[in-house]
Amino acid sequence: MAYSETIAKLIELLGNLPGIGARSAERLAFHLLKADDAEALALADAIRDVKTKIRPCGRCFNLAEGELCSVCDDPSRDASTICVVEQPKDLLSIESTGAYRGVYHVLMGQIAPLEGMEPEDLTIAPLIERVKAGGVREVILATNPTVTGDATALHIIDQLTPTGVKLTRLARGLPAGGQIEYSSRSILSDALTERRDVK
Ligand SMILES: [Zn+2]
Repeated sequence: MAYSETIAKLIELLGNLPGIGARSAERLAFHLLKADDAEALALADAIRDVKTKIRPCGRCFNLAEGELCSVCDDPSRDASTICVVEQPKDLLSIESTGAYRGVYHVLMGQIAPLEGMEPEDLTIAPLIERVKAGGVREVILATNPTVTGDATALHIIDQLTPTGVKLTRLARGLPAGGQIEYSSRSILSDALTERRDVK
């Protein structure tokens, strides 16, 4: 028996999600069909809300519901220290350590020419503007300790060196080739506290 067009479409869309195979997509679709209306529609609303209400922070490009994200909007944060991360998930990992009171800048990726990611595709230009605008004492490069993460950090270091701002890099407690988002809180917290000067 073939599924009706409506059900087939739901299964297809669920199957497009990462980590969801055809069988899981089918199981989820039937779960939603059986679920009560409020539960299923709350999921639909949540998906619509993240796509319509969440946008990049006007200052640091973290995910935000208003003009600024919750970090930039918090007056108790130290705006003179900017921690540069590749993606919002890395920011959340660093926040979970509770060891950092500065602000962030989210690059939205890493420089990877082979994958079509050039420096202009990242938020490097707005970062340089932030530093040039003044009031920034230190920029911590917290890109991933991978080949592309290191190359991205080097590019930013070259761009920021003329500004005279203090540049630091996370300590090598992080395993080489590892990913910030999968690092434990204690390792990340140590890498942050023991960060070192790059010049
Ligand atoms: Zn922000």
